[in-house]
Amino acid sequence: MVLPRALVKASYEANSVFAPLRPGCKLLAATCPTPKELEVQLTDRINRIQISPTATVLAEAEKMKAKGIDVADFGPGEPDFPTPDHIKKAAIRAINENKSKYTPAGGIGPLREAICVWHKRELHSSFEPKECAVSVGGKHSIFNVMSVLIQQGDEVIVPTPCWVSFPDIVKYAGGTPVYVETHPDDGFTVRASAIEKAITPKTKLLIVNSPCNPTGGVVPPDEYERILALCKKHNVWLMGDECYSHFTYEPHKPFSIASANGAKEKVIIIGSMSKTFAMTGWRIGYTLGPEALIQALIKLQSQSTSNPTSVAQYAALEAMTGSMETVPVMLAEYEKRRKRIVEGLRAISGVTCEWPGGAFYAFPNISEHLASGGGRSALAKSDTEIAKMLLDRAHVTVVPGEAFGAPGYLRLSYATSIERIEEGLRRLERFFAHAEAAA
Ligand code: PMP
Repeated sequence: MVLPRALVKASYEANSVFAPLRPGCKLLAATCPTPKELEVQLTDRINRIQISPTATVLAEAEKMKAKGIDVADFGPGEPDFPTPDHIKKAAIRAINENKSKYTPAGGIGPLREAICVWHKRELHSSFEPKECAVSVGGKHSIFNVMSVLIQQGDEVIVPTPCWVSFPDIVKYAGGTPVYVETHPDDGFTVRASAIEKAITPKTKLLIVNSPCNPTGGVVPPDEYERILALCKKHNVWLMGDECYSHFTYEPHKPFSIASANGAKEKVIIIGSMSKTFAMTGWRIGYTLGPEALIQALIKLQSQSTSNPTSVAQYAALEAMTGSMETVPVMLAEYEKRRKRIVEGLRAISGVTCEWPGGAFYAFPNISEHLASGGGRSALAKSDTEIAKMLLDRAHVTVVPGEAFGAPGYLRLSYATSIERIEEGLRRLERFFAHAEAAA
């Protein structure tokens, strides 16, 4: 059946990307559904969400690289380090031992146990294997938790700037994201006082991502405990996304809200092998939480993905039980890069940048370049437009702040070598200087 033209046009505009290219667009033009795709009559729930803007930026950069163009790539949200050898060897051993059959949907028993032991040792929690489900990555864990807890009418509080997938996963589940801003002059810290103002009788869950992608903001333990107290008072689930837990810079330390007194009644922890062990492609994450929730997650997995890949689970088992000596080595390298990139960005006229407390992203504010004044003419109307100009003219990949609910910012991943950071900074300096001279 062919949809009426007006309906096609309306949903086409509502679902498109890289806003300045098409009015109402939120995604890169290349990924906009065509009217032909809309004729397929997709569900409301899939039309409520957009393709991950970071995936879109990565795809654009890959296209350029395939043409032989030298791209200074600050796009990828993943470690540039290889998976440590002992983890790779464990996977090879598992293949050779024919560990290639289905496993229990929620993960092999030894891995569920090892995750609890690791989390207790590293982050001082007290979960038992029945309170742990292994998943196909942290994103899968978040998706499944939302699927089993959130429905039409529920509100989920999402501090912004936020990781691109949180709002869309909430919307897909039928819930409504309620945004609470964090601020650069406060280190992008989530504050209990701001959260309290956003709580309503419909609030079901609050997401706290510390360290935060994209800002690098870290919630100090005492503030996190105030947030937990608030959640308990209002009967709101507190989901702690700990994917970057081990990449915090002094004075911050890895911290889990699950270590707080009485946390277990209201806390759900999301963890991942992706960043800590440089295992993004292996796709192993986990959820820690009340047994009844874990049972629901396993039921959902039993009817969807089934088990996470068996061999990847054995690799993750080695990550959880083996040496962690690669982690401080990666952290020390990220710390050097953080210093270089933040200093380099701050040296560019019209750009400000806070020190990220954790993760591996710099989040400069470029809004001065979006407005005329102080002898400067506006370079573009939005950060999305600037990101597009940077890619086209300077061959630099960044993710626009709008993707994270933060207009006027850019996200630069410094999970790339110092040499590439130097090259990228040179291009950025030239780009902003030329743009200024031309304006
Ligand atoms: N949470 C945050 C904040 C992230 O940045 C990411 C990955 N970019 C994830 C969760 C999911 O990671 P994965 O699915 O690879 O475990």
